[in-house]
Amino acid sequence: MTQLLVADSALTPDGTIGPYWLRLAGDRILQAGHGRPTTTPDLHLSEGVLAPGFVDVHAHGGGGAAFTDGADASRTVLAAHRRRGTTTMLASLVSAPIPALLDQAEQLRPLVEAGELAGIHLEGPWLSPAHRGAHDASLLSDPTPEAVSAVLAHPAASLLRYLTLAPERAGAVEAAARLRAAGVAVGIGHTGADGAQTRAALAAGASAATHLFNGMKGLHHRDPGPALALLEDPAAFLELIHDGVHLHPEMVRHIWHTATRQGGARRLVLVSDAMAGAAAQEGRYTLGALEVDVAHGVARLVEPDGTLGAIAGSAVTLAEAVRRSILDAGIDPAQALRAATANPAEMIGLDDVGRLLPGGRADLVLLDPDWQVRRVMHRGRWVEGANDDGPAAGAAQTDGPAD
Ligand SMILES: [Zn+2]
Repeated sequence: MTQLLVADSALTPDGTIGPYWLRLAGDRILQAGHGRPTTTPDLHLSEGVLAPGFVDVHAHGGGGAAFTDGADASRTVLAAHRRRGTTTMLASLVSAPIPALLDQAEQLRPLVEAGELAGIHLEGPWLSPAHRGAHDASLLSDPTPEAVSAVLAHPAASLLRYLTLAPERAGAVEAAARLRAAGVAVGIGHTGADGAQTRAALAAGASAATHLFNGMKGLHHRDPGPALALLEDPAAFLELIHDGVHLHPEMVRHIWHTATRQGGARRLVLVSDAMAGAAAQEGRYTLGALEVDVAHGVARLVEPDGTLGAIAGSAVTLAEAVRRSILDAGIDPAQALRAATANPAEMIGLDDVGRLLPGGRADLVLLDPDWQVRRVMHRGRWVEGANDDGPAAGAAQTDGPAD
C-alpha cells in the first residue's frame, strides 16, 4: 500500500522551493521527484509549503516535561514538539556529575533504540564557570583524559551524538579529537576561549558552535573571543536560538549573511534550546537541579533569593524559530527551512531525515502562508492535533538576556 502526495510548493532536496511529489510506503519515502506526477495523487497540497519534519539538535524539554526525567517524561517532550513540526530530536542533558549524567542518558536508551529519539546531547559538564548560563557552577569540570575515557567506556556512549565543551578547559582539545573519532559531534559553547584556543579545538575535531553568541564571550575589537573564530571557520555549523530573546533579529541576519559568504548556508542550524516550559503553560519548571520561571515567552533562572537571573533555555519550538527567521530577520524561506532540516541532520550525521529523498523517513511538516504549522506527518502517519500555537504569550521584550 503506497500513498502518492503532491505539493505545489515543497522544500526540495536541492534546497529550493518548488513543486515536488512523494510516494510513501509505510514509514519511508519510496520515490520522490520534482514537478507533478502523471497519475492522480492520493493527496494534493495546493496551499502552503511542505518541508521535511524539523530536526532539533538542542532541546532540554517541552510540554511541561524534561529529558532529564526519564523515558516517560521524554515521550511527553517528544509528543509536544512533534505536534509543532519537530519529528527528530536529540535529548540535551545539562551538566551533572558524569556518572549521573550517563545514567540519565541510559534511561533514554529504549527511546533511542526505538528510533523515537535520535540520540543524546551532553551539554556539559566541561564548560566555563564564567559562561555557565543555566549550568550549576559546582558541577563543571575539566575533560581530562580519564574523564573522557570514563564517558567513552560507559555503555551510554553508544547513545551520544553530540557534546558541548569549552576549549579553554584543560584537556579540551584532545577530548575534541577523541570524541570526534568516536563518532560524537563536538560543539564549542559556554566558553570564554580566545581565537587560538577555539581554532585549536576546531582543528582537532570540533565542528559546531553551541548557541553561537549565547553562553560565550562576545565580540570585542581587542579581544575577539570564540564567536569570531567560529563564524570564520567555513566548515563550522552554527547553532542559533532564534526566539526573539537570545539573539536580536539584526544579529541573526548578520550571522546568516556572514556564514553564507564563508562556507555556505548549510552552516546555519536553528535550535530551540527548549526547556520544559516550551510548548506548555507558562510557570515554574526545573532545568537540571535549577528552578526556572517562564513568563511572557522568556525562561529565566530563579535565584536562591527568589529574584530572576540568567535566561535559562528557551520557550520556543523550531517552528517558531523558522517563522521568526523568515518574518523578523528577512531570511530566505528555503534557507530558513534548511536550517531546521537538512543542516542539523548533517551536523550530527543523520542521513535519513532532513531531506525528502527516497529511503528517508516519511516525516513531513506543512506550513501555511503565514509559516504556521498546519499538518505534521511522523513516520508515515499524520499527527493528531498538529498545529502551532505560536509564542507562549506574545514574546514580550525584557531587559535583555544575561548571556
Ligand atoms: Zn546552553
